[in-house]
Amino acid sequence: MSYRLGIDLGGTTAKIALVDEKGRVVKSATVPSHGFPVPQVLARQCAETCHRLLDGKKIKRVGVGVAGDIDFDRGVVRVSPNLGWKNVPLKKMLQASFRCDVIVDNDANAAAWGLYKTQVPKSVKNMIAVTLGTGVGGGLVLNGELYRGGTGSAGEVGHMTMDENGRLCNCGNRGCLETYAGAIHLVRRVKEDLAQGQRSSLQKIYKTAPETITPLLLSQEARKGDSYARKVWADVGHVLGLALGNLVYVFNPEFIILTGGIAQAKGLILTPLLKTLRKRTFKTPIRHVNVHVADEAPNMGVIGASLL
Ligand SMILES: [Zn+2]
Repeated sequence: MSYRLGIDLGGTTAKIALVDEKGRVVKSATVPSHGFPVPQVLARQCAETCHRLLDGKKIKRVGVGVAGDIDFDRGVVRVSPNLGWKNVPLKKMLQASFRCDVIVDNDANAAAWGLYKTQVPKSVKNMIAVTLGTGVGGGLVLNGELYRGGTGSAGEVGHMTMDENGRLCNCGNRGCLETYAGAIHLVRRVKEDLAQGQRSSLQKIYKTAPETITPLLLSQEARKGDSYARKVWADVGHVLGLALGNLVYVFNPEFIILTGGIAQAKGLILTPLLKTLRKRTFKTPIRHVNVHVADEAPNMGVIGASLL
């Protein structure tokens, strides 16, 4: 049995896992990474935890997925707002602790690669992964390889402009896909509508405990039949259908996989998404794409990192 190590480095914790050749987590641990950690200190803590998990086992590779803008070739974290890092040579720092290669990539790329290797049929060579979480991220697999683009920034589907006069996004632009399909913006929109007197079963909850309004609650109310909640999901699905239609025309993938908390609304999003997608007039690439919601896999970031 051969093993790999994965590190999923986010702004709250670094998840570390020893993964077997089938992509299963054998052992795992976490290291806190909140409060803008000093890079050298966090790298040392991660390396120590890795060696503890390894317990003398030999590995081929260590893969690291980092939330931020990554220079893949040099293994440098250009900017990570979540970690408060700028120009951190993470590959070099970690390489000193391991007698094997260390690969540093963006966390969304790592998760996309993990999904491709563990949840997508082997015959698929071209895939788009869309992560619908707090924000919206993504990754592209083209001709069986992760596509990183000229600066390692490819796959940022969440910041495609859907309406240049739309809501202000965290990135500074307006009307990005994320402002329609990311959890933060979705909840904000719902609260604004309710504040303006929108009729909905959510109105009572909004008046008594507005902080409990989440995408999960929104999907529960939609399934109970609230027409406003259903409309909100239909809007999310429609905009995703437009965005994915554009991507299908450009990349002609066989497979699109949706993942993240928002994707768990499943049919509430998927039905309007497919309706919009199938209205596209250039039929051949649309007919041949399979749109699929990923199985829930909270460890996909770290598994994907290990498989890089
Ligand atoms: Zn944006």
